[in-house]
Amino acid sequence: MESGTAEKSGEATGASNGAARAAEPDAAIEVHNPATGGLIATVPVDSPEKVAETVARVRANQAEWEAIGIEGRYRWLSKLRDWLLDNTDRVIDTMQAETGKVRADASGEPVYLADLINFYGSKAAQFIGEEAVRPHTPLLAAKKLRVQYRPHPVVGIISPWNFPLILALGDAIPAMQAGAAVVVKPSEFTPLGLAEVVKAWKEEIGGPDVFDCVQGIGETGGALVDEVDFVQFTGSDRTGRKVMARAAETLTPVSLELGGKDPMIVLADADLDRAANAAAWGGMMNSGQICMSVERIYVEEPAYDSFVAKLTAAVAELRQGADGKGFGKEVGAMTSPNQTAIVEDHVSDALASGGKALTGGKRVPGPGDYFEPTVLVDVDHSMKVMRDETFGPVVGVMKVRDAEEALQLANDSRYGLSGSVFGEKERAERVARRVECGAVNVNDVLVNYAAMDVPMGGWKQSGIGYRHGEPGIKKYCRTESVVITRFGGKREATWFPYTKTRRGMIDRIAQAFNARDLKRRLGLRG
Ligand code: NAD
Repeated sequence: MESGTAEKSGEATGASNGAARAAEPDAAIEVHNPATGGLIATVPVDSPEKVAETVARVRANQAEWEAIGIEGRYRWLSKLRDWLLDNTDRVIDTMQAETGKVRADASGEPVYLADLINFYGSKAAQFIGEEAVRPHTPLLAAKKLRVQYRPHPVVGIISPWNFPLILALGDAIPAMQAGAAVVVKPSEFTPLGLAEVVKAWKEEIGGPDVFDCVQGIGETGGALVDEVDFVQFTGSDRTGRKVMARAAETLTPVSLELGGKDPMIVLADADLDRAANAAAWGGMMNSGQICMSVERIYVEEPAYDSFVAKLTAAVAELRQGADGKGFGKEVGAMTSPNQTAIVEDHVSDALASGGKALTGGKRVPGPGDYFEPTVLVDVDHSMKVMRDETFGPVVGVMKVRDAEEALQLANDSRYGLSGSVFGEKERAERVARRVECGAVNVNDVLVNYAAMDVPMGGWKQSGIGYRHGEPGIKKYCRTESVVITRFGGKREATWFPYTKTRRGMIDRIAQAFNARDLKRRLGLRG
C-alpha cells in the first residue's frame, strides 16, 4: 500500500477523528416532505467510526476497480445508467418527496446522469488515458516519456440538497470512471434518493463494493474529510471554508463548488420576450434553488420598462404548489427551512430600503414551505438581495445606462459562478466575454450545465476546481510520470565518478544545446 493511503487508514483514524465529536448514540435525521411538512423517513446518523469503517472497506476494493481499466469500469457504470433509465419514476418519486420539487424539476436528474455516464465512458480514454510525450531536448533522446493518470484511491463527496442526485452521483460518476472508490455524504435534508441508488448498486446491479454513502450532518461530513484522499464538496461558501480548513489538516486536496449570485444582462437590442421568459425560468426553476439561478438582472434603459412588464407577467402566472406526478405546476417548495428564512430576510431588507415587489414578496401560508415567485425593482447594490446569495424564487431588476454600467455591476460581486447576456448575437457575445465568471451563456440561461463538453467552475468565492469536460475527470487523478531508459551503458556520463574531462565535455554539450546564438553554441563567448 502506498504511503499516502496508509496515512489515511488504520491507526491514523483515531488521531484524525479527534476533531470530530462522536455522534449521539441513536441519533437520527428526520426527513420531511417540504411540500406538505409531513415526516417521510427517519435515517440513522453514522458515527465517525462508521465513516472510517466505510472508507476502509471501499479502499480495500479500489485497487481491483482501478485494475479493470476504463472499459471495465464503463461496463459497470453502464449498468447503473440502465438501472436509472429503467427506474426513473421510482427515483423521481423519492427525490420529489424529500425536496418538494415539482415533477418537471425532479425529472431532469436521471437523464442528466445517464448522459454523464455515456459522456465520461466514451471520453475517459481521451481525457485520462496514458500520454506519450516527446522529450523536449535531444539530450533525453534515450528516454521514453509517459504520463499515466492514477486515481485518488478514495474520493469523498459532500453534497447539498438542491439536486440530491446530480450533485452527488454526478460527481461520483467521473470519480468512479477514473478508478476511484467513492463515499458520499448527502445533505441531511435529502438523504433518501442517493441511499436508494447506492442500495440498487449493491443489491440490484451487484456492482463492486467501491461505492457507498454515509448519513449525517456537518459532523459526519467532517469525519469523511478526515478519511478520504480527495474531497469533492458542493455547498455554501461558508461550509466550503470549513471543509477546506479541515482538509488542510491532512493535506487532502479539495474541489469546491460553491454559491453564486448570477447576473443576467439584457441589452436594448435583445429579443425581450425571449429574455423575459428566460429570466422567469432561470430565476424560478427549482424555486430559484440553483447555484446558477438568475438572481440579479441589469437592463439597458431603452428596454427596461418593456422587459420588466414582460417578466412580471411571466412570473405572476406561474403555478405554485405540489403537483405529484402530474406536471401541473411550475414552482415547488423550498427544500430547507433555513433557506426560506434567508429568502424572507433578503426580500424584507430590500422592501425596507425602498425596493418594490411587482409580484410576490412573501412566504405562502402552510401546509408546506413555499415562497412566492417574486420580482423586485428599485433595488441597488446596498441591499442583500443584490449582493448575497438568495437561493430562492426571487429576482432583483436594475435599470442601467449602458452595457458598460451593466458589466461593472455584474462584476461587482464576491461570486463568479455563471451569468448570461441577452442581445444582438455579436454584441451580446462581446459583452458576455467580459463577465467575470466560470461559465457564461449568450441568449440562454442555465444551459451551460447540459454542455458537459466544456468545464464549469466558480471564479472568486464561487469555488475552486471544475466539473465537466476534461478537468471534471482529471481532477480525480494524480499524474505519474514514467521516464523509461530505452538504451544506456553501464553508467551515464553524468554519474560518478566525476572527472574534469567528462564534466567539461558534458558542460560543452549542454551549452551547445541550450545556447540560442552561434557564438555561444561554439563555446566562443561567456
Ligand atoms: P451547506 O454548505 O449548508 O451544506 C452542504 C453539505 O455540507 C451538506 O451535506 C452538509 O451536511 C455538509 N456540511 C455542513 N457542515 C459541514 C462541515 N463542517 N464539514 C463537512 N460537511 C459539512 O449547503 P446547502 O445549504 O446544502 O446547499 C446550498 C448551497 O450549495 C448554496 O450556497 C448553493 O449555491 C451551493 N451549491 C453550489 C453548486 C455549484 O455547483 N457551485 C451547486 C449546488 C449548490
